[in-house]
Amino acid sequence: MLVSLYNTASRSKQEFVSLEPGKVRLYCCGPTVYNYAHIGNLRTYIFEDLLRRILEFNGYEVTHVMNVTDVGHMTTDEDAGDDKMEVAARRENRSPWEIARFYEEAFFHDTARLNILRPHITPRATEHVKEMIALIEKLEKGGLTYRTAEGIYFDTALFADYGKMARLNLTGQRTEREEVVADDSKRNPSDFMLWFLNKPTHIMQWTSPWGPGYPGWHIECSAMSMKYLEETFDIHCGGVDHIPVHHTNEIAQSEGATSRPFVRYWMHGEFLLMGKEKISKSKGGSINTLQSLIDAGFDPMAYRYFCLQAHYRTELNFSQEALAAATAGLRKIYSLSTENDSLAQNEEGFAAAKSKVLAVLNDDLGVPQAVGMLNFYNSLRLWLAFDSVLGLQIAEHVHREEEPIPAQVQALISERSAARAAKQWAEADRLRDLLISQGYEVADGPEGAAVRKKVI
Ligand SMILES: [Zn+2]
Repeated sequence: MLVSLYNTASRSKQEFVSLEPGKVRLYCCGPTVYNYAHIGNLRTYIFEDLLRRILEFNGYEVTHVMNVTDVGHMTTDEDAGDDKMEVAARRENRSPWEIARFYEEAFFHDTARLNILRPHITPRATEHVKEMIALIEKLEKGGLTYRTAEGIYFDTALFADYGKMARLNLTGQRTEREEVVADDSKRNPSDFMLWFLNKPTHIMQWTSPWGPGYPGWHIECSAMSMKYLEETFDIHCGGVDHIPVHHTNEIAQSEGATSRPFVRYWMHGEFLLMGKEKISKSKGGSINTLQSLIDAGFDPMAYRYFCLQAHYRTELNFSQEALAAATAGLRKIYSLSTENDSLAQNEEGFAAAKSKVLAVLNDDLGVPQAVGMLNFYNSLRLWLAFDSVLGLQIAEHVHREEEPIPAQVQALISERSAARAAKQWAEADRLRDLLISQGYEVADGPEGAAVRKKVI
């Protein structure tokens, strides 16, 4: 079936044609591992996961590469400020290397909890400095770089198509960026750092033909994407905030070095808008990480389902009410059964419905429309047919209620009934908490307690 995708470069939906038939080479900008991932960033990874799953559902073999930024991403995207890794190291009194490994692991723990498929290759910037140096040398040979006391810059005025994908108005852009320029010796405000020099206090340092220093953030994505996916590849994704600087610079470096088109389809996910959401004071703080969302009583799958209900190119407002509504919606799906499934035995109806849902998914990832249709059909069989695309783990959840309660849990229930009969309320509460901690829901009614495995 045809898949169409919105290409930021052309500002239009295009029929997707891969370079190699049946294969897709996909690169996604990965996390800067200096802190726990914000749920807004996680929304972008959910979008990219859906893209990959839809392509795979259509029979493509996808090679998915996502970098891990563990050096060189400054506190502004325009290279001003400090390296985020070093700021975090000072904050937590650990080495930047320890910070990087710790938050990388936390990131993959979060994405696993959201059922985001792990990319096939997840290269770390610090392990590809050699490739970055080689790429900078290539740019240097081509005359696209210059040196200041602060480092090696890319001269954006010498790259004819600079800002084309982002449709930058460079005159406006330049004055706007002047405020964040840290180095007066830059030729053009939009020039960016390829290799930082003169940072003696920076802990992560490598030797280079230009002297000790470390790579800029943008060069890592060019070096690693082209290493694993070749000089021209199919799809490059990231958040919309990457369009004007990071992706613009990636194009300039890559095409400047190879004189070939870098990426064929650029895809960008929109922001998650955070209101002034606060968790109740006893929990402290606001929801901004996946763990804080879980601590507030929400399930990661509910967050995934919440994200599925907005198109990736539209902004999404986050609120606890919306998340609660998503939880209720997901619970409803998990409670579907084959018994009253109108499409369970109706082969023709099932096939027709399935192709309708697939058609909207293939129309630039029409996931919210697909979810709407699936809710309309209300058929477990149909939901299960798209379980591998939507990643809602329906198969794992749907039969849980039917699982028999193990003997040791049954024993706790009996003990609790006895405690309640003897009006030993504290003991009954202790046993109830124990049951809850083991993943059970306890509802006390006039005929005793109903205990069942918690679905979500
Ligand atoms: Zn990147």
